[in-house]
Amino acid sequence: KKAQIGVTGLAVMGANLARNLARHGYTVALHNRSVEKTDALLEAHGSEGEFIRTETLQELVDSLESPRRILIMVKAGAPVDAVIDQLAPLLDKDDIIIDGGNSHFPDTIRREHDLSQMGLHFVGIGVSGGEEGALNGPSIMPGGSEKSYESLGPLLEDIAAKAPDGKPCCAWISTDGAGHFVKMVHNGIEYADMQVIGEAYDLLRSVAGIEPADQAEIFKKWNTTELNSYLIEITSEVLSQVDAKTGKPLIDVIVDEAGQKGTGRWTVQAALDLGSPVTGIAESVFARALSSSNPAARQQAQKELPAGVLESSQLAEEEEFIEDVRKALFASKLVSYAQGLDQLVAAGKEYGWELKLDEIAGLWRAGCIIRAELLGEIMDAYQGDTQPVNMLLAPGFKKLMEDLLPSWRRVIVKATEMGIPVPVFASSLSYYDGLRRDRLPAALIQGQRDFFGAHTYARVDSEGMWHTEWSGNRLEIDAASSHT
Ligand code: NDP
Repeated sequence: KKAQIGVTGLAVMGANLARNLARHGYTVALHNRSVEKTDALLEAHGSEGEFIRTETLQELVDSLESPRRILIMVKAGAPVDAVIDQLAPLLDKDDIIIDGGNSHFPDTIRREHDLSQMGLHFVGIGVSGGEEGALNGPSIMPGGSEKSYESLGPLLEDIAAKAPDGKPCCAWISTDGAGHFVKMVHNGIEYADMQVIGEAYDLLRSVAGIEPADQAEIFKKWNTTELNSYLIEITSEVLSQVDAKTGKPLIDVIVDEAGQKGTGRWTVQAALDLGSPVTGIAESVFARALSSSNPAARQQAQKELPAGVLESSQLAEEEEFIEDVRKALFASKLVSYAQGLDQLVAAGKEYGWELKLDEIAGLWRAGCIIRAELLGEIMDAYQGDTQPVNMLLAPGFKKLMEDLLPSWRRVIVKATEMGIPVPVFASSLSYYDGLRRDRLPAALIQGQRDFFGAHTYARVDSEGMWHTEWSGNRLEIDAASSHT
């Protein structure tokens, strides 16, 4: 009997996806560079379904039905190219190579281009949900050719998480690197989601003096509101954990330096290239950097930099303050999602991807780290023929903002008075205010640009581009005519 799919790279993610496929009744051929991992998997879980053990890539290829589907789950970067280089010569036209790792989307675009020249399909899929998701149902974001999805889609949809309405959290995103791009932005949003929760925690603790154990209860309660999400749920778990060694809250013995593996940074780099203002994600990446990049500076600044805190305005009742923080968190979260979706729209234009935001929000509803009730509402906001030009302008969210704004502003004022950093709360509000502002100081910047670099400006009252002769008589000239 031939296998329907092969998996090469059997570390945590590959092994769990292989088991997930086998549990769904597929015959899965297994391969790993070092055969020990293959044998360990078979030993521990071989009874969960039909597996075919292979030792070489040639054996893997020979064990598969045609057209072949081979899922690569090796370390992202050069190893993926190394495996493709060994695999491609062994394959036939129309076979499908799938890369389910966290590859950077420009690599996926390049690989898809090269392999399509050889008549092979290359599908970069974003997989979110970590180890647990891979085994029990991840959120899957496949790119590559639409044709390859005909063959691959049914398998992927079978093993994907299911949203509350029963729909699989997997849908063809668009061509070449689109799947990995969407996964990357998912991770960027995840950074922002985590940071706004962190800012809320810091405010509850530093302003209202609420200890972690009590905060765990607050987050549990918040999880029954529109904030309902996986990240809020695990926040409550982390905050309630007591350190066995010291008896202190665990969070107090964890060094406050946050690491990162790079997908947040990629999201911001891509956004800079696209000119897409993902300020919430960028501030989240930089907040992690501030926490960890220069411990000596943090240590010295703690002792030496003046705080200059202001006479603090009267603190509202604790209950009121908690509710204010909850609303500020939610408002900032909405902005981060709006910004992330905006980046997807910009990327779609740049790379020629037809991205359906309702579908993308839909497949983030379960299986992945940012899964949340909110995503169902975002999905609804983008259904129908007229798409909001910005998520915040969808009718439901506009109305919501009206309710959240006073709390959001109050919380940021409080944090500012007391010298508590709230980079994403504050920058998200600036973005929001920037968006709705009638006149931005951008006019002044354009004036300065015209002054030092003759970069010209548009006028509010006439067509064309204009230039003031700053170093001469300061008369305004039609920029077009100045070049003739
Ligand atoms: P790792 O990223 O740790 O990669 C280990 C696997 O890669 C092993 O099977 C190893 O083989 C293989 N490998 C490394 N170099 C080569 C090479 N040159 N040629 C052949 N095989 C090679 O495994 P993970 O399971 O953690 O992750 C797999 C992918 O999934 C990564 O891209 C990761 O970013 C992504 N991912 C991971 C998540 C997670 O929670 N861990 C979540 C979502 C995505 P050997 O055993 O022989 O050393």
